[in-house]
Amino acid sequence: ELDTQSWQVLDRAHYLHPSTDHASLRQTGARVAAHAEGIYVWDTDGERLIDGLSGLGNVNIGYGRKELVDAAAAQMLELSYCQSFFKTTHRAAISLAEKLTSMLPGHLNHVFFQSSGSEANETGTRLARRYWDLLGKPEKRIFIARELAYHGSSHMAASLSGIWPMHKAGGDLPLSNVTHIKTAYQYRNGFGMDADAFGVLAASWLEDKILEIGADNIAAFVAEPAQSAGGAICPPMTYWPEIQRICKKYDILLIVDEVVMGFGRTGEWFGCYKYGIEPDIMQVGKAITSGYLPLSGTIISDRVADVLIDQGGAWDHGYTYSGHPACCAVALENIRILDEEGIVENAGKELAPYFQAKLDAFADHPLIGDIRYVGLMGGLEIVKDKASREAYAYEAHIGDFCSAEALKRGLALRANGDTMSLMPPLITTKAQMDEIFDITREALDATAKHYGV
Ligand code: PLP
Repeated sequence: ELDTQSWQVLDRAHYLHPSTDHASLRQTGARVAAHAEGIYVWDTDGERLIDGLSGLGNVNIGYGRKELVDAAAAQMLELSYCQSFFKTTHRAAISLAEKLTSMLPGHLNHVFFQSSGSEANETGTRLARRYWDLLGKPEKRIFIARELAYHGSSHMAASLSGIWPMHKAGGDLPLSNVTHIKTAYQYRNGFGMDADAFGVLAASWLEDKILEIGADNIAAFVAEPAQSAGGAICPPMTYWPEIQRICKKYDILLIVDEVVMGFGRTGEWFGCYKYGIEPDIMQVGKAITSGYLPLSGTIISDRVADVLIDQGGAWDHGYTYSGHPACCAVALENIRILDEEGIVENAGKELAPYFQAKLDAFADHPLIGDIRYVGLMGGLEIVKDKASREAYAYEAHIGDFCSAEALKRGLALRANGDTMSLMPPLITTKAQMDEIFDITREALDATAKHYGV
């Protein structure tokens, strides 16, 4: 058995980490995770870390649930792989597709599977183009997305994303048929306004863009119900009904990316219930399996599916691992547990109000300018000046500093820019929540001290 340092040497030599500053990683070395249980992860030195982020917003059920492992093993022994390209199917994918559609609004009746959220966004956008092509409107090709959106790392998903450095990460992005509008970020785009009025204003930016480009050229509007990687940006309740109305008025498909929000993050099973959204196409991923295996779904309305099925002929789009049997079996078991143990219900009714009150308590902190949350996703935005909302210079890396301080104290707390984000597992207890917020405060206090506040 190698010691931690030896693993770190091998790590540096051979493993290129996703979305990582490799030069900085070379200096510090990475924490080597060894095992995990509930909301805790232990490293190879035996240090315990509270996972305040549920992995990457996916481990909603917590680590170490044997039922999920058993479901995967049983499925692998019975049917370890099955392609569905050539008129073959299998029971795990059928059952999961049926289960998902039974949980969603009545017009969403069809599911296409992939392995990741990025791929789901590729499927959703290709499908939208296909839909308009089949209806004889190939000029409807532009996608409108939002600033600070995150939709993934493949070419289209990264193009849709509105976190600008992503466009420079490789490739000539954004692709030419993607454009962005400002988002429902009240602290930066509508400070001081009444929240309801701001929601309507923020939705009107979509209408302005449609009028600028022409509805005949637009395929779809793509958005997350609330934005997580952008920094826990949660729209006012008036935003989505207006967006829905505008999409209908101009005959533009509404694609809703629930990759993070799905399976309980908002305190409801899906963000579309929380915000009253009726998407034409919807992506789910991440917590569909609570991270035990990779799986995502593109959920498709009758409106779109009927055209594809009745008029489509062959649709040349699919992945080797579309509907992988073990992933589907794990998703079914994960959904069963989330439901039967009342985990999603408890998260919405009991835990979310507790979590949110804890966040609100940071209003007095000298670094915190804005506090945002929905369900069990929250963000504390660090600013240099609370009165003017002036941010720290990018080079100050204050969010990263705070995140490192939390890590030193045993908490994974993410910096999305200068917003400190928390997305704890849905099984977190109130006592564990207290611990998370005690460490968060200590990390912020240490940050304030370091930056002379
Ligand atoms: N969509 C949203 C809203 C996400 O937050 C993410 C990942 O964080 C993705 C899509 C991409 O998913 P994946 O990393 O599984 O490709």
